[in-house]
Amino acid sequence: MSTTATDVNQSADAGGTEWDPIFDEVGLPKDPTNIYTQTVASMLQAAEIINLRHRVRIILAQPKNEIMVHFPVRMDDGHHKLFKGYRVQHNNAVGPYKGGLRFHQDVHLDDVKSLAFLMTMKCALVRVPFGGGKGGVNCNPRELSPGELERVSRRFTAAIANDIGPDYDIPAPDVGTTAEIMAWIADTYGALSGRHGPADPFAVVTGKPIAVGGSLGREKATGQGVVDVLREMLPDLDIPVEDMRVSLLGFGNVGSWAAKILSDLGANVVAVMDHTGAIRNTEGLDVHALADHVAEHGGVAGFEKKTGTGGHARHCGEGCDVISEDDFWTTPVDVFIPAALEGMVNEERAKQLHCRVVAEAANAPTTPEGDAVLASRGIEVIPDMLCNAGGVTVSYFEWVQNRSNVTWDVEQVDRELNRIMCMAARRTIVAKQKYDVSMRLASYIAALEHLGDIYNHRGIWP
Ligand code: GLU
Repeated sequence: MSTTATDVNQSADAGGTEWDPIFDEVGLPKDPTNIYTQTVASMLQAAEIINLRHRVRIILAQPKNEIMVHFPVRMDDGHHKLFKGYRVQHNNAVGPYKGGLRFHQDVHLDDVKSLAFLMTMKCALVRVPFGGGKGGVNCNPRELSPGELERVSRRFTAAIANDIGPDYDIPAPDVGTTAEIMAWIADTYGALSGRHGPADPFAVVTGKPIAVGGSLGREKATGQGVVDVLREMLPDLDIPVEDMRVSLLGFGNVGSWAAKILSDLGANVVAVMDHTGAIRNTEGLDVHALADHVAEHGGVAGFEKKTGTGGHARHCGEGCDVISEDDFWTTPVDVFIPAALEGMVNEERAKQLHCRVVAEAANAPTTPEGDAVLASRGIEVIPDMLCNAGGVTVSYFEWVQNRSNVTWDVEQVDRELNRIMCMAARRTIVAKQKYDVSMRLASYIAALEHLGDIYNHRGIWP
Protein backbone atom coordinates (compact mmCIF):
# COMPACT_ATOMS: atom_id res chain seq x y z
CA MET A 1 0.00 0.00 0.00
CA SER A 2 1.42 3.36 -0.89
CA THR A 3 1.76 6.19 1.60
CA THR A 4 0.57 9.66 0.69
CA ALA A 5 2.52 12.85 1.22
CA THR A 6 -0.06 13.93 3.81
CA ASP A 7 0.46 10.76 5.87
CA VAL A 8 4.15 11.40 5.86
CA ASN A 9 3.84 15.04 6.80
CA GLN A 10 1.61 14.07 9.69
CA SER A 11 4.09 11.50 10.89
CA ALA A 12 6.90 14.06 10.49
CA ASP A 13 4.89 16.62 12.49
CA ALA A 14 4.45 14.04 15.21
CA GLY A 15 8.18 13.55 15.29
CA GLY A 16 8.13 10.82 12.63
CA THR A 17 11.26 12.02 10.87
CA GLU A 18 13.42 12.44 13.93
CA TRP A 19 12.13 9.29 15.55
CA ASP A 20 12.20 7.04 12.53
CA PRO A 21 13.20 3.61 13.93
CA ILE A 22 15.90 3.47 11.27
CA PHE A 23 17.98 5.95 13.29
CA ASP A 24 18.21 3.39 16.10
CA GLU A 25 18.59 0.51 13.74
CA VAL A 26 21.67 1.94 12.01
CA GLY A 27 23.06 3.60 15.12
CA LEU A 28 22.58 7.27 14.26
CA PRO A 29 22.08 9.95 16.92
CA LYS A 30 18.49 11.24 17.06
CA ASP A 31 19.87 14.74 17.35
CA PRO A 32 17.87 17.17 15.18
CA THR A 33 20.77 19.66 15.17
CA ASN A 34 23.22 17.13 13.71
CA ILE A 35 23.75 17.86 10.01
CA TYR A 36 24.02 14.19 9.04
CA THR A 37 20.85 13.33 10.99
CA GLN A 38 19.06 16.14 9.17
CA THR A 39 20.20 14.87 5.78
CA VAL A 40 19.13 11.30 6.48
CA ALA A 41 15.79 12.55 7.86
CA SER A 42 15.00 14.21 4.53
CA MET A 43 15.91 11.05 2.66
CA LEU A 44 13.71 8.91 4.93
CA GLN A 45 10.79 11.26 4.42
CA ALA A 46 11.11 10.86 0.65
CA ALA A 47 11.67 7.09 1.03
CA GLU A 48 8.40 6.82 2.93
CA ILE A 49 6.48 8.61 0.20
CA ILE A 50 7.61 6.18 -2.50
CA ASN A 51 7.57 3.14 -0.23
CA LEU A 52 11.26 2.50 -0.76
CA ARG A 53 12.31 -0.94 0.45
CA HIS A 54 13.61 -1.12 3.99
CA ARG A 55 16.91 -2.63 2.91
CA VAL A 56 17.66 0.33 0.62
CA ARG A 57 16.77 2.78 3.38
CA ILE A 58 19.20 1.24 5.85
CA ILE A 59 21.97 0.97 3.27
CA LEU A 60 21.63 4.64 2.38
CA ALA A 61 21.32 5.78 6.01
CA GLN A 62 25.03 5.10 6.63
CA PRO A 63 28.07 5.55 4.37
CA LYS A 64 29.89 2.42 3.27
CA ASN A 65 33.29 3.64 4.43
CA GLU A 66 34.46 6.50 6.64
CA ILE A 67 38.20 7.00 6.29
CA MET A 68 40.05 9.31 8.67
CA VAL A 69 43.77 9.95 8.38
CA HIS A 70 46.39 12.00 10.19
CA PHE A 71 49.55 13.04 8.39
CA PRO A 72 52.50 15.32 9.16
CA VAL A 73 53.55 18.15 6.86
CA ARG A 74 56.75 20.19 7.01
CA MET A 75 55.86 23.88 7.21
CA ASP A 76 57.97 26.65 5.68
CA ASP A 77 59.55 27.54 9.03
CA GLY A 78 60.86 23.98 9.38
CA HIS A 79 58.48 22.67 12.03
CA HIS A 80 56.05 19.84 11.34
CA LYS A 81 52.31 20.11 11.74
CA LEU A 82 49.83 17.22 11.96
CA PHE A 83 46.76 17.47 9.71
CA LYS A 84 43.52 15.52 9.81
CA GLY A 85 41.94 14.36 6.56
CA TYR A 86 38.74 12.54 5.62
CA ARG A 87 37.33 10.54 2.77
CA VAL A 88 33.79 9.30 3.19
CA GLN A 89 32.57 6.81 0.59
CA HIS A 90 28.83 6.84 0.87
CA ASN A 91 27.56 4.55 -1.86
CA ASN A 92 28.83 2.91 -5.05
CA ALA A 93 25.81 0.98 -6.29
CA VAL A 94 25.58 3.15 -9.42
CA GLY A 95 29.31 3.47 -10.12
CA PRO A 96 32.61 4.58 -8.54
CA TYR A 97 32.44 6.87 -5.51
CA LYS A 98 32.58 10.48 -6.72
CA GLY A 99 32.82 13.84 -5.03
CA GLY A 100 34.97 16.76 -4.07
CA LEU A 101 37.72 17.38 -1.56
CA ARG A 102 37.25 20.36 0.73
CA PHE A 103 40.11 22.23 2.38
CA HIS A 104 38.55 24.27 5.17
CA GLN A 105 39.09 24.88 8.87
CA ASP A 106 35.53 23.72 9.74
CA VAL A 107 35.71 20.35 7.94
CA HIS A 108 34.52 17.58 10.28
CA LEU A 109 33.24 14.04 9.93
CA ASP A 110 29.47 14.59 10.05
CA ASP A 111 29.78 17.41 7.58
CA VAL A 112 31.76 15.25 5.14
CA LYS A 113 29.27 12.39 5.63
CA SER A 114 26.38 14.69 4.71
CA LEU A 115 28.16 16.01 1.66
CA ALA A 116 29.08 12.46 0.56
CA PHE A 117 25.44 11.43 0.99
CA LEU A 118 24.36 14.39 -1.11
CA MET A 119 26.75 13.28 -3.89
CA THR A 120 25.05 9.86 -4.04
CA MET A 121 21.71 11.60 -4.40
CA LYS A 122 23.00 14.17 -6.88
CA CYS A 123 24.54 11.60 -9.22
CA ALA A 124 21.40 9.46 -9.02
CA LEU A 125 19.17 12.46 -9.77
CA VAL A 126 21.09 13.50 -12.89
CA ARG A 127 21.65 9.84 -13.82
CA VAL A 128 25.44 9.93 -14.21
CA PRO A 129 26.92 6.52 -13.43
CA PHE A 130 28.73 7.48 -10.23
CA GLY A 131 28.12 6.92 -6.55
CA GLY A 132 28.78 9.44 -3.82
CA GLY A 133 31.84 10.39 -1.82
CA LYS A 134 33.40 13.45 -0.23
CA GLY A 135 36.59 14.27 1.54
CA GLY A 136 38.63 17.03 2.94
CA VAL A 137 41.42 18.28 5.09
CA ASN A 138 40.90 20.33 8.20
CA CYS A 139 43.03 23.36 7.34
CA ASN A 140 42.72 26.97 6.29
CA PRO A 141 44.22 27.09 2.78
CA ARG A 142 44.37 30.90 2.94
CA GLU A 143 46.95 30.59 5.72
CA LEU A 144 49.16 28.13 3.82
CA SER A 145 51.95 29.18 1.47
CA PRO A 146 51.84 27.63 -2.04
CA GLY A 147 54.58 25.20 -1.00
CA GLU A 148 52.74 24.18 2.18
CA LEU A 149 49.51 23.75 0.23
CA GLU A 150 51.26 21.45 -2.24
CA ARG A 151 52.82 19.37 0.55
CA VAL A 152 49.44 19.08 2.35
CA SER A 153 47.81 17.96 -0.92
CA ARG A 154 50.49 15.41 -1.72
CA ARG A 155 50.74 13.95 1.81
CA PHE A 156 46.95 13.70 2.02
CA THR A 157 46.92 11.89 -1.34
CA ALA A 158 49.58 9.49 -0.09
CA ALA A 159 47.49 8.84 3.03
CA ILE A 160 44.39 7.86 1.00
CA ALA A 161 46.14 6.51 -2.11
CA ASN A 162 44.98 2.93 -1.48
CA ASP A 163 41.39 4.08 -1.08
CA ILE A 164 40.98 6.04 -4.32
CA GLY A 165 41.41 5.15 -8.00
CA PRO A 166 40.00 5.85 -11.48
CA ASP A 167 37.65 2.84 -11.22
CA TYR A 168 36.93 3.11 -7.53
CA ASP A 169 36.79 6.61 -6.03
CA ILE A 170 37.38 9.82 -7.99
CA PRO A 171 37.85 13.08 -6.05
CA ALA A 172 37.35 16.57 -7.51
CA PRO A 173 37.58 20.23 -6.42
CA ASP A 174 35.27 21.64 -3.79
CA VAL A 175 35.47 24.59 -1.37
CA GLY A 176 39.13 25.58 -0.90
CA THR A 177 40.57 23.26 -3.57
CA THR A 178 41.58 24.09 -7.12
CA ALA A 179 42.50 22.58 -10.48
CA GLU A 180 46.18 22.91 -9.48
CA ILE A 181 45.57 20.82 -6.36
CA MET A 182 43.90 18.18 -8.55
CA ALA A 183 47.05 18.11 -10.72
CA TRP A 184 49.23 17.50 -7.62
CA ILE A 185 46.87 14.73 -6.48
CA ALA A 186 46.92 13.06 -9.91
CA ASP A 187 50.72 13.31 -10.07
CA THR A 188 51.17 11.89 -6.55
CA TYR A 189 48.68 9.11 -7.19
CA GLY A 190 50.37 8.30 -10.52
CA ALA A 191 53.77 8.09 -8.84
CA LEU A 192 52.51 5.87 -6.01
CA SER A 193 50.12 3.65 -7.94
CA GLY A 194 52.71 2.27 -10.36
CA ARG A 195 50.20 2.49 -13.21
CA HIS A 196 51.66 3.25 -16.64
CA GLY A 197 50.49 5.80 -19.19
CA PRO A 198 49.39 9.34 -18.45
CA ALA A 199 45.68 8.93 -19.10
CA ASP A 200 44.88 6.17 -16.65
CA PRO A 201 46.26 7.45 -13.33
CA PHE A 202 45.16 10.98 -14.16
CA ALA A 203 41.53 9.83 -14.36
CA VAL A 204 41.75 9.42 -10.56
CA VAL A 205 40.58 13.02 -10.17
CA THR A 206 38.45 15.41 -12.22
CA GLY A 207 38.51 19.18 -12.36
CA LYS A 208 42.15 19.07 -13.51
CA PRO A 209 43.85 21.82 -15.53
CA ILE A 210 43.18 21.38 -19.26
CA ALA A 211 46.88 20.67 -19.91
CA VAL A 212 46.82 17.53 -17.76
CA GLY A 213 43.55 15.98 -18.88
CA GLY A 214 40.99 18.47 -17.62
CA SER A 215 37.83 19.10 -19.62
CA LEU A 216 36.90 22.29 -21.37
CA GLY A 217 33.90 23.78 -19.60
CA ARG A 218 34.64 22.09 -16.23
CA GLU A 219 35.74 25.23 -14.42
CA LYS A 220 32.47 27.03 -15.10
CA ALA A 221 30.34 23.86 -15.02
CA THR A 222 28.64 24.25 -11.64
CA GLY A 223 27.74 27.89 -12.35
CA GLN A 224 26.63 26.97 -15.86
CA GLY A 225 24.44 24.19 -14.46
CA VAL A 226 22.80 26.61 -12.02
CA VAL A 227 21.92 28.85 -14.98
CA ASP A 228 20.68 25.91 -17.08
CA VAL A 229 18.32 24.87 -14.27
CA LEU A 230 17.09 28.45 -13.75
CA ARG A 231 16.39 28.84 -17.45
CA GLU A 232 14.44 25.60 -17.43
CA MET A 233 12.42 26.40 -14.31
CA LEU A 234 11.91 30.16 -14.13
CA PRO A 235 9.51 30.47 -17.10
CA ASP A 236 7.06 28.26 -15.13
CA LEU A 237 7.28 30.82 -12.32
CA ASP A 238 6.87 33.76 -14.70
CA ILE A 239 10.32 35.16 -13.99
CA PRO A 240 12.15 36.21 -17.17
CA VAL A 241 15.85 35.31 -16.81
CA GLU A 242 16.74 38.13 -19.21
CA ASP A 243 15.96 40.90 -16.76
CA MET A 244 15.62 39.29 -13.37
CA ARG A 245 17.34 40.66 -10.28
CA VAL A 246 19.74 38.41 -8.42
CA SER A 247 21.75 38.47 -5.19
CA LEU A 248 24.59 36.09 -4.42
CA LEU A 249 26.05 34.82 -1.18
CA GLY A 250 29.59 33.67 -1.98
CA PHE A 251 31.67 34.68 -4.97
CA GLY A 252 34.07 31.77 -5.38
CA ASN A 253 34.15 29.52 -8.42
CA VAL A 254 30.42 28.69 -8.43
CA GLY A 255 29.06 32.11 -7.49
CA SER A 256 31.27 34.09 -9.85
CA TRP A 257 30.58 31.86 -12.85
CA ALA A 258 26.82 31.84 -12.22
CA ALA A 259 26.92 35.64 -11.92
CA LYS A 260 28.95 36.15 -15.09
CA ILE A 261 26.77 33.82 -17.19
CA LEU A 262 23.54 35.32 -15.83
CA SER A 263 24.80 38.85 -16.38
CA ASP A 264 25.72 38.01 -19.98
CA LEU A 265 22.14 36.82 -20.46
CA GLY A 266 20.87 40.21 -19.27
CA ALA A 267 20.13 39.53 -15.58
CA ASN A 268 21.01 42.18 -12.98
CA VAL A 269 23.25 40.95 -10.16
CA VAL A 270 22.48 43.65 -7.61
CA ALA A 271 24.14 42.43 -4.38
CA VAL A 272 27.00 40.11 -3.45
CA MET A 273 28.30 39.11 -0.02
CA ASP A 274 31.29 36.95 0.90
CA HIS A 275 33.59 36.43 3.90
CA THR A 276 35.12 39.88 3.34
CA GLY A 277 31.99 42.03 3.10
CA ALA A 278 28.83 42.92 1.18
CA ILE A 279 28.31 45.27 -1.79
CA ARG A 280 25.31 46.46 -3.78
CA ASN A 281 24.38 48.41 -6.85
CA THR A 282 20.65 48.42 -7.54
CA GLU A 283 21.33 48.98 -11.25
CA GLY A 284 23.52 45.87 -11.34
CA LEU A 285 27.15 45.11 -10.45
CA ASP A 286 29.83 44.62 -13.07
CA VAL A 287 30.37 41.01 -12.12
CA HIS A 288 33.14 40.41 -14.65
CA ALA A 289 35.19 43.20 -13.09
CA LEU A 290 34.20 41.90 -9.65
CA ALA A 291 35.47 38.40 -10.52
CA ASP A 292 38.82 39.90 -11.57
CA HIS A 293 38.94 41.86 -8.31
CA VAL A 294 38.17 38.77 -6.19
CA ALA A 295 40.82 36.73 -8.04
CA GLU A 296 43.39 39.41 -7.16
CA HIS A 297 42.32 40.33 -3.62
CA GLY A 298 40.61 37.19 -2.31
CA GLY A 299 37.20 38.78 -1.67
CA VAL A 300 34.68 41.44 -2.67
CA ALA A 301 35.99 43.98 -0.10
CA GLY A 302 37.64 46.96 -1.75
CA PHE A 303 35.64 46.67 -4.98
CA GLU A 304 33.79 49.86 -4.06
CA LYS A 305 37.06 51.77 -4.46
CA LYS A 306 37.30 50.78 -8.11
CA THR A 307 36.39 53.59 -10.45
CA GLY A 308 34.42 52.70 -13.56
CA THR A 309 33.02 49.25 -14.15
CA GLY A 310 35.57 47.60 -16.37
CA GLY A 311 32.93 47.66 -19.08
CA HIS A 312 32.47 43.88 -19.44
CA ALA A 313 28.98 43.35 -18.10
CA ARG A 314 26.13 44.45 -20.28
CA HIS A 315 23.74 45.31 -17.48
CA CYS A 316 25.35 47.21 -14.71
CA GLY A 317 25.61 50.60 -13.14
CA GLU A 318 28.70 52.50 -12.10
CA GLY A 319 30.57 51.33 -8.96
CA CYS A 320 28.81 50.03 -5.84
CA ASP A 321 28.06 50.71 -2.18
CA VAL A 322 29.30 48.79 0.83
CA ILE A 323 26.27 47.50 2.76
CA SER A 324 25.65 45.73 6.06
CA GLU A 325 24.88 42.00 6.33
CA ASP A 326 21.25 42.80 7.16
CA ASP A 327 20.98 45.07 4.12
CA PHE A 328 22.34 42.27 1.99
CA TRP A 329 19.80 39.73 3.23
CA THR A 330 16.85 42.11 2.82
CA THR A 331 17.76 43.38 -0.67
CA PRO A 332 14.71 42.82 -2.93
CA VAL A 333 15.52 40.38 -5.75
CA ASP A 334 13.77 37.78 -7.86
CA VAL A 335 16.35 35.06 -7.20
CA PHE A 336 18.72 34.63 -4.25
CA ILE A 337 21.67 32.31 -4.91
CA PRO A 338 23.51 30.95 -1.86
CA ALA A 339 26.88 29.83 -3.26
CA ALA A 340 28.96 29.55 -0.08
CA LEU A 341 28.88 27.07 2.81
CA GLU A 342 26.32 24.90 4.59
CA GLY A 343 23.62 26.15 6.93
CA MET A 344 23.85 29.86 6.11
CA VAL A 345 20.15 30.28 5.31
CA ASN A 346 18.87 29.69 8.82
CA GLU A 347 15.52 30.64 10.34
CA GLU A 348 16.49 34.26 10.96
CA ARG A 349 17.97 34.82 7.50
CA ALA A 350 15.08 33.03 5.79
CA LYS A 351 12.73 35.52 7.44
CA GLN A 352 14.79 38.43 6.10
CA LEU A 353 15.04 37.29 2.49
CA HIS A 354 13.07 39.34 0.01
CA CYS A 355 12.99 37.02 -3.03
CA ARG A 356 10.72 34.66 -4.95
CA VAL A 357 13.20 31.85 -5.55
CA VAL A 358 16.23 30.47 -3.68
CA ALA A 359 18.57 28.64 -6.06
CA GLU A 360 20.91 26.50 -3.95
CA ALA A 361 24.24 26.66 -5.75
CA ALA A 362 26.06 25.62 -2.55
CA ASN A 363 25.66 22.24 -0.90
CA ALA A 364 23.15 22.19 2.00
CA PRO A 365 23.00 26.01 2.38
CA THR A 366 19.56 25.94 4.04
CA THR A 367 18.88 24.58 7.52
CA PRO A 368 15.64 22.61 8.09
CA GLU A 369 14.32 25.58 10.11
CA GLY A 370 15.24 27.96 7.28
CA ASP A 371 13.55 25.63 4.81
CA ALA A 372 10.34 25.66 6.86
CA VAL A 373 10.31 29.47 6.91
CA LEU A 374 10.88 29.69 3.16
CA ALA A 375 8.05 27.20 2.56
CA SER A 376 5.67 29.12 4.83
CA ARG A 377 6.49 32.33 2.95
CA GLY A 378 5.84 30.68 -0.43
CA ILE A 379 9.45 31.08 -1.58
CA GLU A 380 10.36 28.36 -4.07
CA VAL A 381 13.61 26.53 -3.32
CA ILE A 382 15.51 24.89 -6.17
CA PRO A 383 17.44 22.32 -4.13
CA ASP A 384 21.22 21.86 -4.13
CA MET A 385 21.01 18.30 -5.39
CA LEU A 386 19.60 19.58 -8.67
CA CYS A 387 20.85 23.14 -8.79
CA ASN A 388 24.59 22.49 -8.37
CA ALA A 389 24.83 19.12 -10.15
CA GLY A 390 26.52 20.71 -13.18
CA GLY A 391 29.97 20.29 -11.60
CA VAL A 392 29.81 16.55 -11.16
CA THR A 393 28.10 16.16 -14.52
CA VAL A 394 31.04 17.75 -16.36
CA SER A 395 33.38 15.77 -14.07
CA TYR A 396 31.73 12.71 -15.58
CA PHE A 397 32.42 14.07 -19.08
CA GLU A 398 36.06 14.66 -18.08
CA TRP A 399 36.37 11.09 -16.81
CA VAL A 400 34.79 9.71 -20.00
CA GLN A 401 37.25 11.75 -22.11
CA ASN A 402 40.22 10.54 -20.02
CA ARG A 403 39.12 6.92 -20.19
CA SER A 404 38.56 6.98 -23.94
CA ASN A 405 41.48 9.24 -24.91
CA VAL A 406 39.34 11.85 -26.64
CA THR A 407 38.69 15.55 -26.07
CA TRP A 408 35.37 17.27 -26.49
CA ASP A 409 35.02 20.86 -27.62
CA VAL A 410 33.31 23.25 -25.23
CA GLU A 411 30.14 23.36 -27.36
CA GLN A 412 29.73 19.60 -26.92
CA VAL A 413 30.32 19.87 -23.15
CA ASP A 414 27.79 22.72 -22.81
CA ARG A 415 25.23 20.97 -24.99
CA GLU A 416 25.43 17.67 -23.08
CA LEU A 417 25.42 19.48 -19.74
CA ASN A 418 22.33 21.42 -20.71
CA ARG A 419 20.56 18.24 -21.83
CA ILE A 420 21.31 16.46 -18.54
CA MET A 421 20.42 19.45 -16.34
CA CYS A 422 17.12 20.07 -18.16
CA MET A 423 16.14 16.40 -17.90
CA ALA A 424 16.96 16.39 -14.17
CA ALA A 425 14.90 19.55 -13.70
CA ARG A 426 11.94 17.99 -15.53
CA ARG A 427 12.31 14.77 -13.50
CA THR A 428 12.11 16.84 -10.32
CA ILE A 429 9.06 18.79 -11.52
CA VAL A 430 7.27 15.55 -12.46
CA ALA A 431 7.92 14.11 -8.96
CA LYS A 432 6.80 17.38 -7.36
CA GLN A 433 3.52 17.31 -9.25
CA LYS A 434 2.93 13.59 -8.81
CA TYR A 435 3.40 13.60 -5.01
CA ASP A 436 2.45 17.22 -4.30
CA VAL A 437 5.65 17.88 -2.35
CA SER A 438 8.34 20.55 -2.20
CA MET A 439 11.00 20.66 -4.87
CA ARG A 440 13.55 19.39 -2.30
CA LEU A 441 11.52 16.29 -1.46
CA ALA A 442 10.80 15.82 -5.15
CA SER A 443 14.53 15.77 -5.95
CA TYR A 444 15.11 13.16 -3.22
CA ILE A 445 12.24 11.11 -4.63
CA ALA A 446 13.55 11.29 -8.21
CA ALA A 447 17.01 10.19 -6.99
CA LEU A 448 15.68 7.43 -4.74
CA GLU A 449 13.49 6.00 -7.48
CA HIS A 450 16.66 5.41 -9.50
CA LEU A 451 18.63 3.94 -6.57
CA GLY A 452 15.68 1.74 -5.57
CA ASP A 453 15.43 0.46 -9.11
CA ILE A 454 19.14 -0.40 -9.22
CA TYR A 455 18.97 -2.29 -5.91
CA ASN A 456 15.85 -4.12 -7.12
CA HIS A 457 17.72 -5.38 -10.15
CA ARG A 458 21.04 -6.08 -8.45
CA GLY A 459 19.69 -7.54 -5.25
CA ILE A 460 21.99 -7.69 -2.27
CA TRP A 461 24.79 -10.20 -2.30
CA PRO A 462 24.87 -13.08 -1.32
N1 GLU B 1 32.46 19.36 -5.37
C1 GLU B 1 31.49 19.38 -6.41
C2 GLU B 1 30.12 19.03 -5.86
O1 GLU B 1 29.87 19.15 -4.68
C3 GLU B 1 31.89 18.55 -7.62
C4 GLU B 1 32.10 17.10 -7.34
C5 GLU B 1 32.70 16.34 -8.51
O2 GLU B 1 32.89 16.90 -9.57
O3 GLU B 1 32.97 15.16 -8.31
O4 GLU B 1 29.22 18.70 -6.57
